Amino acid sequence: MKPKSEVLLRKLTRREFRERMRARELKACIIPIAAIEQHLEHLAMEHDWRSVVHIATAVAEELRPTVLVAEGLMAGISEHHMKHPGTLSLSPGVFLSALSELVDSVARAGFENILVLNGHGGNTVPCRAVWDQFLRRHQRNLHFLPYWEVLTDADARELLKCGHRIPTDLPGHAQEFETSIGLAAFPENVRQDMWTDQSDKTPSEATAGQGTIFLERIIERVTCYIREMIEGKRMAEVPPFHP
Ligand SMILES: [Zn+2]
Repeated sequence: MKPKSEVLLRKLTRREFRERMRARELKACIIPIAAIEQHLEHLAMEHDWRSVVHIATAVAEELRPTVLVAEGLMAGISEHHMKHPGTLSLSPGVFLSALSELVDSVARAGFENILVLNGHGGNTVPCRAVWDQFLRRHQRNLHFLPYWEVLTDADARELLKCGHRIPTDLPGHAQEFETSIGLAAFPENVRQDMWTDQSDKTPSEATAGQGTIFLERIIERVTCYIREMIEGKRMAEVPPFHP
């Protein structure tokens, strides 16, 4: 039986990459971005990174062999969390420069469709502020999507017990939503003996069942998003240059 083709770019050899690109098998690339930052007392600092890579990988598996995940930037813009030692933060200029270089790398490798999938709220405003510049510079079908934006008000009302405001409760920060995802996908990151030992007790309301449903919906909708990119139904418009 032929082994399943790899979905993580870093696991390929240069020959394997070259041959898959030359055969026009590779249609889209996901660049996950996130943060390594404090997530209250009970959730591991890798949460945003781990969750966005989990989602990106699952989406690439759904669309195998056409999509690769290109990781290259674990830390994000987290100055607002630096009061808690252990958080790693990049200043916006450094972060956006590094992201632009990663986009350039995968564009030069041959990808026409590139999705920057975001797992950390602090990256959103800086990325959106420069996206028109990114589009002009990279000239690709280049999209930016915070993964929780595929969820709706109805999802929040149906699945969250402690509040359903967007973005305060969904995604919120290390509360019911994020904790449920941790319980469902990487439970070793959730310290259940700590989750009520802090002023915000809402994380202890999270369940793995809730997280599984959230992840199924997110993975299905991001898969749909990137499939539409590949099929030419979701095209980023490059804004005009100054006349
Ligand atoms: Zn988070």
